[in-house]
Amino acid sequence: MGLRFLSLASGSSGNCYYLGNKEYGILIDAGIGVRTIKKALKDKDIPFESIVALFITHDHADHIKSAGVLGEKYYIPVYSTEEIHVGMNKNYSMTEKIYQSKRLITKNEAVELRDFRITPFEVPHDGTDNVGYFIQYNGQNFVFATDLGHIPTDVAMYLSQANYLVLEANYDTEMLKNGRYSPFLKQRVASNNGHMSNHDTADFLATVYDEKLKYVFLCHLSQDNNHPELAYKTIEYRLNQNNIKVGKDLQLTVLKRTTPSELYEF
Ligand SMILES: [Zn+2]
Ligand SMILES: [Zn+2]
Repeated sequence: MGLRFLSLASGSSGNCYYLGNKEYGILIDAGIGVRTIKKALKDKDIPFESIVALFITHDHADHIKSAGVLGEKYYIPVYSTEEIHVGMNKNYSMTEKIYQSKRLITKNEAVELRDFRITPFEVPHDGTDNVGYFIQYNGQNFVFATDLGHIPTDVAMYLSQANYLVLEANYDTEMLKNGRYSPFLKQRVASNNGHMSNHDTADFLATVYDEKLKYVFLCHLSQDNNHPELAYKTIEYRLNQNNIKVGKDLQLTVLKRTTPSELYEF
């Protein structure tokens, strides 16, 4: 069975992603309302009941809003590290706390979920604890890294094994510099534990690219400090400098902030 990927929402107003096959799937992050999640899945003929687990990257509001409801009202097991679980249950943006649906995972240790093998890895960001996910399915590697200030060597090790990569391109350096954010917030976003700029992401991709990387999805674009076209062009241009042709050597897609993507099937 092929792998199917859907972005339900991506950005600071809410993040939620689906990964599965024709029979079942998982969600990564739940930063939008349950009704929105149900509708987006239904529109793609994915039964809500086929969701077997929810994995959380970190405890910021835009990633966890409905995690408690999904866990406690819909009995979907919620996987994350102990620190992230503690942070989530302290966060008032999550109305329902997580008790019976809590599932613990450990960084760099894989969990098997039917045909999926999922390994959380640490990323540098300013949540209580922060992970990306390395997901193996049917000989393919789907790697997921959002909300990270930079890419240290051990993160690069996971990312460079990707066939399919969801990677943050949060802000354009100039837009952030000249934008309306306070100096404090600007500094936070641009810090080593903040977010990736278009240039950071472009440089990383140009450096690690090899032919097994088929698809890159740019995620978590800032509404204030980025434009989808600017992110796309910056990365396309940088890849081109290394003679990597977007559309031929790899596919590049910018995930939309508030509308679902198409359903990708690999
Ligand atoms: Zn976020
Ligand atoms: Zn965050």
